[in-house]
Amino acid sequence: MEGEHIRRYTDGKILIEINEQWCKGCGICVEFCPKKVLAMNPRGKPEVIDLESCTKCQLCDLRCPDFAITVEEGQDESILATGRRVEKKGGMGS
Ligand code: SF4
Ligand code: SF4
Repeated sequence: MEGEHIRRYTDGKILIEINEQWCKGCGICVEFCPKKVLAMNPRGKPEVIDLESCTKCQLCDLRCPDFAITVEEGQDESILATGRRVEKKGGMGS
């Protein structure tokens, strides 16, 4: 199940998803976040530590080389229902 690798953080207005399977732990998202919303956890993956400060600038989303972090705006169920298209990119056969 791909979903197991995805951590979701939401306050009902914003949804940040981090796909730990795709994330290679480069730390770029943490570096680029102007609001220090993100921090690397002991496992070397980013976590949202201050969702309230997120300005939805999407720098983390845009800069991530592995499409492992996404930021979406919306309201409650709509963002949760929309969720994120969990598409496999490329793939190495099966
Ligand atoms: S959208 Fe911007 S403020 Fe929010 S976590 Fe990403 S880089 Fe930080
Ligand atoms: S930029 Fe992407 S690959 Fe790098 S640590 Fe952040 S989520 Fe992981």
